[in-house]
Amino acid sequence: MIQGSGRCHYHPERTGLGICVECRRVICRECTTQFEGINRCASCLGKRLQALEGPAERREWSVGNVMLALIGAAVVYGFVLLFAQVASEL
Ligand SMILES: [Zn+2]
Ligand SMILES: [Zn+2]
Repeated sequence: MIQGSGRCHYHPERTGLGICVECRRVICRECTTQFEGINRCASCLGKRLQALEGPAERREWSVGNVMLALIGAAVVYGFVLLFAQVASEL
């Protein structure tokens, strides 16, 4: 990394030790975060983590899905009964 390349963007009183790969700001040791082996400032790491999480997927069963499942099961059960009846009449 580039050493002594100015002052930390977030702490003007501290010496900058690295550069954030995202925003190219000089950051001090305290601001440097190592994630995936890459230097990032704290704010960019936060954005990165948010991007990784992505939109929350909703896998909850809605009432509509439950109704469809029940109807499907009922239809299958009805067919089974129908076939059993037809088979017994043969
Ligand atoms: Zn950054
Ligand atoms: Zn700093």
